[in-house]
Amino acid sequence: MAQQKATNITWHEGFNREERWKLLGSKGATLWFTGLSASGKSTIAVALEQTLLQRGVNSYRLDGDNVRFGLNKNLGFSAEDRAENIRRIGEVAKLFADSGTLALTSFISPYRADRDACRELHEKDKVGAIPFIEVFVDTPIEVCEQRDPKGLYKKARAGEIKGFTGIDDPYEAPTKPELVLKPETMSVEESVEACLDMLTKHGIIAKA
Ligand code: ADP
Repeated sequence: MAQQKATNITWHEGFNREERWKLLGSKGATLWFTGLSASGKSTIAVALEQTLLQRGVNSYRLDGDNVRFGLNKNLGFSAEDRAENIRRIGEVAKLFADSGTLALTSFISPYRADRDACRELHEKDKVGAIPFIEVFVDTPIEVCEQRDPKGLYKKARAGEIKGFTGIDDPYEAPTKPELVLKPETMSVEESVEACLDMLTKHGIIAKA
């Protein structure tokens, strides 16, 4: 991952996280959605974000394409750029979580090493571990390709997009995700429920 370039910098201790979360009455965490394009990451994350906000739980969604319009507009889809894309998202999600927000990230994040690095970033945080929950949206490629809401698989099959995950670039499925969702057999509502259960089990949100 990225090298530390700057020298002569010192970590400045700020407001205590535990105290912040206590005052806000909320806990931070990152829910990391991973899966093929069109697997349902964004659809589920949007529905979850809405449910959480309606319950008064502060949550914020970081979306694959949206982040590439701003923070990561200088990155493409080479393995190197994908790694840097995910590293920055991991850092940003951690900042949101540190602030007491539930960060919901929906990125294909195809490489295991990159996702593991984001997990490590959270779990080995200087101030203390921040919960990192990996959610594998496990939709078979045939289903994703049939859905193809943005016409991307069609373009990739026609050779108009190179290095498309699942077609001519690998997707490395998580080996030990905290949660596996199967949109083929689960409705969006059922997936949202499964996420809420997981957050409750981890003590991040209170039972409804
Ligand atoms: P991703 O963010 O993984 O690229 P999207 O959420 O953008 O995927 O697209 C998934 C598509 O699949 C949407 O058009 C959504 O309406 C559809 N879909 C159908 N059934 C489900 C389901 N049970 N869960 C999630 N998405 C579903």
